Amino acid sequence: MRNVICGRCVKCGREYEAVPNLTNCECGGILDIIYDYEYIKTKLTKETLAARSTPTMWRYRELLPVEESTPDTELRVGWSPLYEAPRLAKKLGICKLWIKDDGINPTASLKDRASAMAVAKAREAGAKVIACSSTGNAASSLAGNAAAAGLKTYIFVPSRAPKGKVAQLMTFGATVISVQGSYEDTFELSKAAIDRWGWYNRNAAINPYLSEGKKTVGLEIMEQLGWQVPDYIAISVGDGCTIAGLWKGLKDLYAIGFIDRLPKLISVQAAGCCPINRAVEENAPWRPMEENTLADSIAVGVPRNPDKAINAIRESQGLTVEVTDAEIMAAQKLLGTTCGVFGEPAGVTGAAGLKKLCEQGKLSPDATVVSVVTGNGLKDVANAIQACGEPISVPSDMEKLLSAFAEREIPLR
Ligand SMILES: *Cc1c(COP(=O)(O)O)cnc(C)c1O
Ligand SMILES: [Zn+2]
Repeated sequence: MRNVICGRCVKCGREYEAVPNLTNCECGGILDIIYDYEYIKTKLTKETLAARSTPTMWRYRELLPVEESTPDTELRVGWSPLYEAPRLAKKLGICKLWIKDDGINPTASLKDRASAMAVAKAREAGAKVIACSSTGNAASSLAGNAAAAGLKTYIFVPSRAPKGKVAQLMTFGATVISVQGSYEDTFELSKAAIDRWGWYNRNAAINPYLSEGKKTVGLEIMEQLGWQVPDYIAISVGDGCTIAGLWKGLKDLYAIGFIDRLPKLISVQAAGCCPINRAVEENAPWRPMEENTLADSIAVGVPRNPDKAINAIRESQGLTVEVTDAEIMAAQKLLGTTCGVFGEPAGVTGAAGLKKLCEQGKLSPDATVVSVVTGNGLKDVANAIQACGEPISVPSDMEKLLSAFAEREIPLR
C-alpha cells in the first residue's frame, strides 16, 4: 500500500508494518493507520473525485488502507443520503441542520462501512473465516458483507440483541452464538475463540482498519456539503470506534487540504451507560459502567476503543451530552415526524443529544450542524412502537371509525 506508512500505537507510539491481519500493539494499545498525505495529494484532487461515479465508500480508495489490486466489496456500502432538515432545524432553533442517514446501508447501519473494510482486509490476508462480537449491528453487517463475498462468519452477540438483528444474522447464514451475559462477557468469549481457532478478527477495538472504513462517513459528509465545514457533527457513541473514525476522516481531509477547518464533535451517550463521556467530562481515566439503556447498540459498559474516542472529542474541542431513554424515544418520533427518517434507538441518540444541547442553549442560533443517524429503526420495531405508540384499531365500520376519531379529537381537515 503506497499510501500507508504504518500502524502506530495510540498509547506508546510503537510502529508496525501495515499487514492485513494487524491487531493491537504489544502494550495493548490500539493502532492508528498512518498515511503518506504528500503522496495522496498527488493522486487525489477534488476534481478527480467529482468525476468518479462510484456511489460507495470505495470512491475514497486513495485514503483507504487497501491494496490497489483488492476489489471493491460486493454490497453497495456508503454514499448514504445527506438530507437538509429545515423543519427540524427550526424546531431546534439552529441555522442549518442536515441528517446523514446511514440506516440506508445494505444491512441498515453505519457498521457496514467497517464490515466492508474487514471483508477487503480478510481477502488480502487470504482468510476464509471472519469472526466478531457485537452488540448486534457489527454482527449483522459482517454477516451480510461476508456472505456476499463468499466468506464464512462466526458471530457472538449478547442474548439481549433485538430480534431484527438476529434475524439478519440467521438469514445471512452466520454461525451465531448468543451469549448469556453482557456485551463485555460476549467480547471475552469471542476473543478466546478467535485466539483458539485463528479466525480473521473483526472486533473493532482490535482491528485498526475498521475505523478507517467508518471514517468514510466523514469523507462523504464533507463531499456532500461541497467541502463547506459545519460547526458541529453529532453522533452516538458506544465502543467509540465510530466517532474516532469520523474524526479520522475529517482530519484526513484537512491534511490533504480539502477543508480548511475542522468541525466540533458532539459525543452523545445514554445517561445509563456513558463511560467515554464521563471520562472527558471529569478529565479522568474511563471507568466501566453498567449497560443500562434501551439503545442496545451503544450499551457498552466497557468501551473497546476509549482512547481514540476520547482523543477525538478533546482534539475537536467537542461537546459531550447524555440522554435518557425517554429522550431517545422522543428523538425517534421527532426525526420520524419532521424528516421521514426512521432510526433505531442508538441511531437517533445523536439527534437526541443535539436537541438537548439546543434546549440548554449550548449552541448558537447561527450554528450549522450535521446529525448522523447510525442505524435503521426496522431493526428494532418493539422499541419504535413503544416510543411512538399503537395505531387506532377499529373494525371495518364507518360508524366505529367516526367515534374513534371523535374520541381522540383527531382533526379531519
Ligand atoms: C455501533 C453503533 C454505534 C456506536 O458506534 P461505536 O463504534 O460502538 O461507538 C452507534 N449507533 C449504532 C446504530 C451502532 O450500531
Ligand atoms: Zn503500544
